Amino acid sequence: MVKYTQKGKMAPKGYSKIQSNYTFLLGDLEPTSICFALFQEHLFDQNDIEKVTSKAGTKEQNNQILTILLERSGHNSYEKFIDVLKNLNYDHAVEILESECSDDSDESGFIEFNEGRKEKQEKKSSLARFKEAILHRGTPNVAFKAKDADITRLKQEREAKIRESKRLESKARDEEIARLKQEQESKRLSKVIDELQETQKKQWKQIIDYEAMLNSTPSMERNTESIKCNQCLHTVAHGSDLLNIPGVGALEKSTVTVFGAEGVLKQKFINETDDIFDVYTTSKADIKVTSNRIGHPKYVWYDIGYDWSYMHCKGKECKNQIGWKYQKNGDTPFYGLIDANVTD
Ligand SMILES: [Zn+2]
Repeated sequence: MVKYTQKGKMAPKGYSKIQSNYTFLLGDLEPTSICFALFQEHLFDQNDIEKVTSKAGTKEQNNQILTILLERSGHNSYEKFIDVLKNLNYDHAVEILESECSDDSDESGFIEFNEGRKEKQEKKSSLARFKEAILHRGTPNVAFKAKDADITRLKQEREAKIRESKRLESKARDEEIARLKQEQESKRLSKVIDELQETQKKQWKQIIDYEAMLNSTPSMERNTESIKCNQCLHTVAHGSDLLNIPGVGALEKSTVTVFGAEGVLKQKFINETDDIFDVYTTSKADIKVTSNRIGHPKYVWYDIGYDWSYMHCKGKECKNQIGWKYQKNGDTPFYGLIDANVTD
């Protein structure tokens, strides 16, 4: 059964919608494909196709012809036109055309195309152009100014938010820094405490070592062997006077049998002018004390706090340096004898 193309005027409702969105439709539609689709729907005939697909016309002009022909393609041509647009995925165009429909329904419930409506349609038409201008052309107008004002306001709000957020961040950072400083100070203090405790431990250990050494005084078997000045043979001390005092700054420590005593502590020290000495320690010494000095902090031989004095031989005309006398806070002194300067 052959279906003939329908002719006659489009229903006013559809016509007004096309009219309202005329500019948009001229610019947006692809006339040839729509024309063929309308032919398939029996709205257009061969003549119509020829008119619309004229190579001489621009897209807008061909669309203009298409809409003119569409208006004459029967009462339901608008609804069919919408179906065609849907089939061809003109979702945006359908949305625009149909949104006009819902507006009208809300206002009046139905559309009646009459003179009273014309004024409204004209308004709508200008609204549609305005909308179209915003959507597709970007023509500067009042709407854009309003939009600019909105954008400026939003930007200001955003900047205010950023400022506030930065302020809060900076406050949080300051607090964090203060906290870290406190933490650091607390760590530093606990380190100082640890160091002090460590020093105290070392001092305690020295005292313990010292006491242990005192208890382990060399075995002397009541030896009367003399320790003499190697220059004039003046007797400086005896093997029984040897007393092991361990030094903190000794380069080497060894125990030797010397002056008739076993287990005598012999220690190697270096002074600030790089002279090296092997030293024995005694509780007594017959010597001459010369100048007094306070221990050099970098060359502590025995312990911090010992003052020391040079000691020389008491022998007549002898100027041999025998060693040093050590004393702390007026306590009992001890004597360091230079191995190289004494003999048995
Ligand atoms: Zn001497």
